[in-house]
Amino acid sequence: MKRKEFLPFCQASLDKDEFKEVESCLRSGWLTMGNKVLEFEKSFAEYTGTKFALAVNSCTAALHLALLAHGLGPGDEVLVPSFTFTSTVNVIIHAGAKPIFVDINRATLNIDPEDVKKKITKKTKAIIAVHYAGLPADLTALSAIATENNLILIEDAAHAVGSKYKEKQIGSHGNTTCFSFYATKTITTGEGGMVTTDDPNIAEYVMRSRLHGISKDAWKRYLKGGSWKYDVLQPGYKCNMTDVQAAMGIHQLKKLEGFINRRKEIVDAYDVGFASNAMVGSLAIPANVRHSHHLYPLLLTSYNRDRFIEEMNDFNIGTSVHFIPVHQFTYYKENFPVKKSDMAVTNEVFEKIVSLPLYPSMKNRDIDYIIKVVNNLTTQDKK
Ligand SMILES: *Cc1c(COP(=O)(O)O)cnc(C)c1O
Repeated sequence: MKRKEFLPFCQASLDKDEFKEVESCLRSGWLTMGNKVLEFEKSFAEYTGTKFALAVNSCTAALHLALLAHGLGPGDEVLVPSFTFTSTVNVIIHAGAKPIFVDINRATLNIDPEDVKKKITKKTKAIIAVHYAGLPADLTALSAIATENNLILIEDAAHAVGSKYKEKQIGSHGNTTCFSFYATKTITTGEGGMVTTDDPNIAEYVMRSRLHGISKDAWKRYLKGGSWKYDVLQPGYKCNMTDVQAAMGIHQLKKLEGFINRRKEIVDAYDVGFASNAMVGSLAIPANVRHSHHLYPLLLTSYNRDRFIEEMNDFNIGTSVHFIPVHQFTYYKENFPVKKSDMAVTNEVFEKIVSLPLYPSMKNRDIDYIIKVVNNLTTQDKK
């Protein structure tokens, strides 16, 4: 029953629409930020229901600029889950602030509002909420905590393009929100990211700082009628998106609803397939959200995770782990140590979690095969 070809953990869904648009972009001779970026930003703002959408070259850059735009820096503490990709935390260091790790809720694997409350000090200035796997964090509780304590709430929505919280798109809840279009994400531009906000000052800061700190619309200086004159208002960065990337993004965004529907079908098939397998547990989804299903995390309740990954690999199935808790990495252990008991849920979940393949181009027979292999492996008489 073993399949011959390796089934990769993830695969982007690009077709002739993206190929044609990228080709037309290359043929136009305009390769850097230009009209295609503007078009992508406009459609992204419309889709998410936000006033401003600013494209950058990664979600990491989006998060970094978001922290700076909100004035975070030395002396400030930022509350952040350890159960995330390292860049969510790295950018806090880049901004000169101090990351304070927060544990997750066992049922949702999202940042635990109760633990957020416990970790607030006089120096706390912001919370970064990650929408893990595409499941929105508890924005009601987090917003209340933020308002009460005068904190900035920033959303890491790297997994959550298309997710909704209480009927409203992620991005439209009044916070600065950062999205990723990295190759493995729900929609992709190869590398890319977006900042959404309703605040014109934040938008202005991001627009300027993504392109050297030059007064806005600097990219137009090479167009006819564009001015060679510009001013530098701050020492900015270089993290704008290019038209070649946006050419993909424009079409990916149009396909997003279809992608999410197909992802949901696959997730439903997995849920049914594992329903009677006591060795695996999937996660509860609250009623008031739409999950983008960026990831399908499986909790191996009584089976060795590392061995499971090796065995899946032997059966030609790619898997991954989201995430190695950031506080466990050498740099963070040495510079921002936390007590084990302080990250109890994160540490426990990390030992058991594995992500199964989940992407629109998976065939039904791929899904059936994975379910069969997972159930066979985990219910064998060896632990
Ligand atoms: C992928 C990811 C990022 C970083 O996205 P890039 O676009 O690769 O910079 C940030 N946060 C989370 C939770 C991610 O999964």
